[in-house]
Amino acid sequence: MAKVKSSHVSTDVEAVLRAARQQYRCDCQQMLSLAEQALQLALADDVASLAHATLLQGQATLILSGAQTALPILRKALSQAKVIAANPLVAESWIGIANALQSLGQHHAAFLAYLDALQAAMQDNSYMLYAQAYLGMGNLYVQHSEHSKALHYLALAREWADASEDQDLRCKTRLHLSATLLSLRQFPLAYAVLQEAQSQLILPLRRDWQAEIYNYLGLIHVEQGESAQALDCLQMACQINIQAGFFWGQTVNLLGLGKLSFRLDQPESALTYLRQALNLADEFKDIHLLQDIHYQLSLIYEAQGDDVSAMQHHIAYHDHYMQLQKLKDSSQFRATDQRRLQNVEMKLKLLSSELEVNQLKQQRDQEVGRLRALESAVYHDSLTGVYNRRALDERLPDLLRLTQEEQGNLLAIMIDFDHFKQINDLFSHHIGDMVLRTACDVLSQLTRENDMLARYGGEEFVLIVHHIDTAIANKIAERMRQKIEQFNWSELQIGLQVSISLGGAVWQYGESATELLARADKALYAAKHSGRNCVRFARIGGHA
Ligand code: GH3
Ligand code: MG
Ligand code: MG
Repeated sequence: MAKVKSSHVSTDVEAVLRAARQQYRCDCQQMLSLAEQALQLALADDVASLAHATLLQGQATLILSGAQTALPILRKALSQAKVIAANPLVAESWIGIANALQSLGQHHAAFLAYLDALQAAMQDNSYMLYAQAYLGMGNLYVQHSEHSKALHYLALAREWADASEDQDLRCKTRLHLSATLLSLRQFPLAYAVLQEAQSQLILPLRRDWQAEIYNYLGLIHVEQGESAQALDCLQMACQINIQAGFFWGQTVNLLGLGKLSFRLDQPESALTYLRQALNLADEFKDIHLLQDIHYQLSLIYEAQGDDVSAMQHHIAYHDHYMQLQKLKDSSQFRATDQRRLQNVEMKLKLLSSELEVNQLKQQRDQEVGRLRALESAVYHDSLTGVYNRRALDERLPDLLRLTQEEQGNLLAIMIDFDHFKQINDLFSHHIGDMVLRTACDVLSQLTRENDMLARYGGEEFVLIVHHIDTAIANKIAERMRQKIEQFNWSELQIGLQVSISLGGAVWQYGESATELLARADKALYAAKHSGRNCVRFARIGGHA
């Protein structure tokens, strides 16, 4: 008799749990009461139902009451799920815990929790949970403005979301990925990803995401100087946000409209939009937004010659910048435990290769290919194809560390074209561009595979050469100078002559990337001063 009753009750519990799960995206209040109902119904020895109900209770609480209240509930769900080795529940609990830790600013702990989620999800090969964990990791890097690392994880999240066939998650991962591509100024890629997000959007449930998509599209159009389309998109986003009462979205739109007006040379309306944005952002204290708004305001006042207001907003911008730095420091994501983080990343790589073995090799190969294409776009200059400043900034410190460990040699050569303004003026900007592209081809042919030629900015380039005999450093630079001078430039344009000035610096033990480049730059200045089309080297000790 007792047996019959218990199976009857457990069916009820399952139905209630199913109903609760269905409410997750629509009505968290309803989800919470269903989860609590399931907790009442579940028998004391039915740990699986208890764990499941506790997890749903924790997820709803996280949204309704915040991380502090939700965390103990989610931890309880985790320990219950572990008792019966219910891996999907274990993984889901870890993701809940990680999300809670992230919103409490405990980023390092959150990262480790996502890793635990990945590991647990592997037991059942749950694509959806991989996607959620990678999404969380990507967002952690977004919060630390490490966009290329964020890109890595968000691209993985998107791939796994596709495998999961969860349409909402497919849309969400694309939304986050496109925001990061925007931060990396990869506009065509961001645009393509947004189109995909649009096609996966579930309406009317995700009206706020629709507004966000319009907003990002608007920002891309602003950046690409397509004002009419930008205005359309931003206004559509605004309309949705106002109708639905999404204040955060409205603030973001106002900021976009402000930027657009400023670009269109309408400073007064830009100021109106931005002041409205400031008022809204002040209410919910979003530091990233406040920082951006103050920055835009300072730019506009500066352009108007109102130095006092420009200064005030610049100070406010700087205050928020410092606040963000402090938050980052206190979130302990970074170097406090560098070694452990490296171990985690290594473990993660191992995990991914194990996943490959899990009959997904083909899919992962595709993923790696797409990711490479994305990463290559992020690290290369689109005009010349050589590395860009981001690649240099990220890799040079690592190269220096390696050189220090190996007690090797390293040389930095700063290259600047001579009288380049004249080339543009005499011929055209197009010819100027062709010169940069051709010269980079010529210079690349003189470098070895491990050397790094990067566009430093404008018509300035840096070449990093390692493992060289410092005695021949001068010869390398001199050969580059000659090759450019002797190249048959009239093939490109009759009457065209091109030369470069070079400043070299041999890395000194213990020197930072910034110090090394500063010395090379000083040497370049000396080369310019000596009449251009020549090479100068920095002397040890900092003087050219
Ligand atoms: P100097 O010999 O002192 O270096 O003279 P310069 O004219 O080269 O002076 P400077 O280095 O200060 O000026 C660089 C010019 O290069 C300014 C800018 O218009 C032009 N420039 C920068 N980036 C590009 C680019 O991508 N394409 C073209 N065509 N021109 C560029
Ligand atoms: Mg120049
Ligand atoms: Mg220059």
